[in-house]
Amino acid sequence: PATAQGGPDDLRSWERALQREVDADSAARMSEAMSTYPGRVGTEGAERRANYSVDELTKWGLNARLESYSVYASVPQHIAVTMTGPQRRELEVKEPPYPWHENFEDVVVGYNAYSPAGQATSDVVYVNYGLPDDYARLAEMGVDVRGKIVLARYGQSFRGVKSKVAEEHGAAGVILYSDPADDGFTRGEVYPNGPWRNADGIQRGSVQYIFQYPGDPLTPGRPSTQDTPRLDPSDAENMTSVPTTPISYGQAQHLLAALQGPEAPAEWQGGLDLTYRVGPGPTRVDLDLDIDYRQIPVNDVIVEIPGSKHPEQKVVLGAHYDSWTYGTKDDVSGWTTLMEAARALAELRDRGWQPERTIVLAGWDGEEYGLLGATEWVEQHRADLLENALVYLNMDGAGGGKNFSAGSVPALDAVLADIAKDVRDPEHGTLYRNWQQASGEQDPVPDRLGSGSDYTPFLDHLGIASAEFGTSTPSGEYHSAYDDLRMMREFLDPGYRYHEASAAYAGTFALRMAGSDIALMLYSDYATAVEGHLRDLDEKQADGQVVDLSPAYAAAREWHAAAKRLESEAHGVRGERADAINDALIAQERALTQQEGLPGRDWYKHMVYAPGLYTGYAVQPLSAIDDAITGDDPATAEKYRDLLVDSLHKATEAARGAVR
Ligand code: GLU
Ligand code: CA
Ligand code: ZN
Ligand code: ZN
Repeated sequence: PATAQGGPDDLRSWERALQREVDADSAARMSEAMSTYPGRVGTEGAERRANYSVDELTKWGLNARLESYSVYASVPQHIAVTMTGPQRRELEVKEPPYPWHENFEDVVVGYNAYSPAGQATSDVVYVNYGLPDDYARLAEMGVDVRGKIVLARYGQSFRGVKSKVAEEHGAAGVILYSDPADDGFTRGEVYPNGPWRNADGIQRGSVQYIFQYPGDPLTPGRPSTQDTPRLDPSDAENMTSVPTTPISYGQAQHLLAALQGPEAPAEWQGGLDLTYRVGPGPTRVDLDLDIDYRQIPVNDVIVEIPGSKHPEQKVVLGAHYDSWTYGTKDDVSGWTTLMEAARALAELRDRGWQPERTIVLAGWDGEEYGLLGATEWVEQHRADLLENALVYLNMDGAGGGKNFSAGSVPALDAVLADIAKDVRDPEHGTLYRNWQQASGEQDPVPDRLGSGSDYTPFLDHLGIASAEFGTSTPSGEYHSAYDDLRMMREFLDPGYRYHEASAAYAGTFALRMAGSDIALMLYSDYATAVEGHLRDLDEKQADGQVVDLSPAYAAAREWHAAAKRLESEAHGVRGERADAINDALIAQERALTQQEGLPGRDWYKHMVYAPGLYTGYAVQPLSAIDDAITGDDPATAEKYRDLLVDSLHKATEAARGAVR
């Protein structure tokens, strides 16, 4: 690299040095080391991964430590799903191992974290994906699910939403299963011959109501450190009351084959070779979920690389290291990729590089149970992050496959694309080319962020500009015992070349964000996106206006003008003037939060982006106003329009304050 420190050319040459340094074999070694045992939160496996990671990072000369919490969580003891009618059959609740599986006794049975313990016996009703519309359809067919055990297929919504909707409809229990049409044999060859889910694969997963608030159910808004008072569990609002548990399609087939009652609609027919009927009965099931609730340890791995010029300012990158089973893809791949970027950054530092801002690299624990580690950490470091965090980049599945994708707030669209153009792809020239092909777009734009991974507390709770990226190959190992090393080597990332490319992407992001004189966020793009979201809402209320959104359009346009003006003044600026501009850039995302929070879920403070209450994963822009329009509630719609306008004005003022 160049010798003169500090200029943009110098930054580019360090970026190229990092891109040369990251290495597929190094990533493969770490992935292998962490994939020979399951890494579920609260178990020895998770602790082993955390210690391994700290040891490696320390060996490279980085300052790595654990930050720990004690969190209220479910621990399964015995899970039994028994078909009791029309004939009796014990269903399998765990996959059989293959000869290459080590430590298989530590792989947890199929179970849903934060399901209540409990017992339920009833007739079964098939409810398709278990979406609100599916229940409406059942009602039309004259089928009542009250007191029944509903059988819902995975897909379309976050599984916690499926529990919630079942709860709202009075179901006594929920069985979730993976239909072959969604990620099994209908899609392609199944494991071990191909990457799709076989008849034994079970999708485990949390049913925590993350759309209410994530993290420890007993400490919303506060860190689960020793001194924090806990709620009584009966007062916690992010847990379902309906016993919920997952099975494979090999087992679900027994239940579905025996169901009678009306034939399910054509779109409800899945991939199994039978006619799907809705019931109720004569298929009958006894659910017996023996699940303990207790405090478990959650250990985040935290690395800091101090900045030279602005040590207080932080660029944060994170990936969860915990997994349901072996988790070679979810999320050993993301964490390995981030570790590999860390190794390369350590190497650059030995050669004389130092970031201008502090880089924080985080390995989150307990993501799978409800974003536990990231949420508690963000809640603990709230004041510092609010003041000093520039940006958060999340990696969940990065490296574990081939197709590039990204998600972000609009302010980061441009820089995410720029970096993708600068990073080599093993098959497509650049990651940007890959992204173009995978998205089918000439100018691909990141998706907007809903929830389901660790960016949620950063963006939705604190208003920190956030992004994620990943590389993935369509497959069906998700949360099963077959998310293993062999799956990765044979089908997902043979040769670990996408782990390497993803490490180059993450490392370049860290270097650029921590080394650019002006923070690379474009809030004029954000204002444009907000106008687009407003137009979508107006389209929705075209046949009957619930709320007049014109003050919000006006505020978005003013913001656009102010942000644009600031951006035009920012080129090539350094020193104190740059500091003022950067403060204004950071302030604009923060301005989009309101202390009041969203209706009925005040942990969610962001007025523009949030997960939908009935999607859980998918984003619902301007969620409060959107729901109020749907519910024909002008008072709430106006209240949240006014809060949005207030946020847009504050963002405008922040931008104007730094304009000359
Ligand atoms: N990403 C994980 C999942 O979808 C965790 C989501 C959560 O519970 O917050 O299961
Ligand atoms: Ca908490
Ligand atoms: Zn994950
Ligand atoms: Zn996961």
